[in-house]
Amino acid sequence: MTNRNRSREMYEQACRLLPGGVNSPVRAFQAVGGNPLFIERGQGARVYDVDGNAYIDYVCSWGPLILGHAHPAVTAGLAGAIAGGTSFGAPTERELVLAGLITDALPSVEKIRFVNSGTEATMSAARLARAFTGRQKIIKFAGCYHGHADSFLVQAGSGALTLGVPSSPGVPPGLSSLTIVLPYNDLDSVREALQQWGSEIAAVIVEPVAANMGVVLPGPGFLDGLRQLTREAGCLLIFDEVITGFRLGFGGAQGYYGITPDLTCLGKIIGGGLPVGAYGGRTEIMKLVAPDGPVYQAGTLSGNPVAMEAGIITLNLLKQPGIYQQLEERGEHLGQGLAKAAREAGIDTTLNRVGSLMSLFFCSESVTDLDSALKSNQEQFARYFNLMLNEGIYLAPSQFEALFVSLAHTREDLDQTIKVAGRAFLQMREN
Ligand SMILES: *Cc1c(COP(=O)(O)O)cnc(C)c1O
Repeated sequence: MTNRNRSREMYEQACRLLPGGVNSPVRAFQAVGGNPLFIERGQGARVYDVDGNAYIDYVCSWGPLILGHAHPAVTAGLAGAIAGGTSFGAPTERELVLAGLITDALPSVEKIRFVNSGTEATMSAARLARAFTGRQKIIKFAGCYHGHADSFLVQAGSGALTLGVPSSPGVPPGLSSLTIVLPYNDLDSVREALQQWGSEIAAVIVEPVAANMGVVLPGPGFLDGLRQLTREAGCLLIFDEVITGFRLGFGGAQGYYGITPDLTCLGKIIGGGLPVGAYGGRTEIMKLVAPDGPVYQAGTLSGNPVAMEAGIITLNLLKQPGIYQQLEERGEHLGQGLAKAAREAGIDTTLNRVGSLMSLFFCSESVTDLDSALKSNQEQFARYFNLMLNEGIYLAPSQFEALFVSLAHTREDLDQTIKVAGRAFLQMREN
């Protein structure tokens, strides 16, 4: 068991200054108990806390750090960019370069607008979809996370097909009632909703691989079906690729599954660890965005040169041949190793994985939507999480977050992780 005294002291101080001691809720470790680690630095696949403990990190800043921490090319590029001034509020060449890299990688994105977070990207895409279609309602899926804009902090109403109710105080019911929440992987319910409200639906927004209820893969035909149904209904299909973009492949989930959405939201990896988001799509739609068109959306720091630089370096490295094959191999090695260790210890688990993105659920049935994800034994997860942390493996502190493998994770790191997990499963088995 590692000494975490300084982290505990800092957390106590932080709780006096910040709500819950954190600037984003899941960081507070509430789902797993104990205090969050205060991180001093990261290098490669490891983070180091303020008590001097080292951990193999599978949070990777919740996805952006696909190259690992403090990648030398990124830190060198950033140093150069910063020396030239950190923000101008005027166009810079780096915006062109990053926009070019992204539009080449994602043919569905003809034009792109950079913002500062994934939340801004989805919020702006929803506004644009509403303006483009002249319709107001949006369909989302239970368990998908699209940032914290009001329209998306909505849960399903009671009953099969009802308008959404706020999932957070402060969201006006008048707004949440414009969001319809349906079960992931359930095309029939989408078909029914489109029959009932078809001419009022502006867009269907989906995580093409859901990664915010744990990782849940789209079943055969789900994404295809959404593409077809939205086309027939005259509404837009928005892929929220904030996690999957440049994670599943250089062409994102849309390239991986061969589906062309109308609008795409990006974030995380495209900022290389700095705050960035983006949304884009066909010119016909994007030309409505100000100043080309009437849909207002702006940002003091949008297209920030330092953030653009981190994104450019990251994407250029990811573009090299063989990179996604390597990520797949590492993901497969870790996923199979964890699943086998659990099986051998007699712990029921289900592993959902695509490439370097995965989740281990503590249940034996397959996990295909929020209801089945909720069947995972969260006490077992909390136990597993803490046993792993005590042995130097830093997982996301919630069952409903993904595990991210980066290019910095070596075979030895993965084997060490599997070994520690094996011991953890045996201990869980014993008591
Ligand atoms: C992280 C995330 C967001 C929100 O991005 P922020 O940068 O945290 O605002 C939106 N959608 C998905 C799928 C995400 O994983």
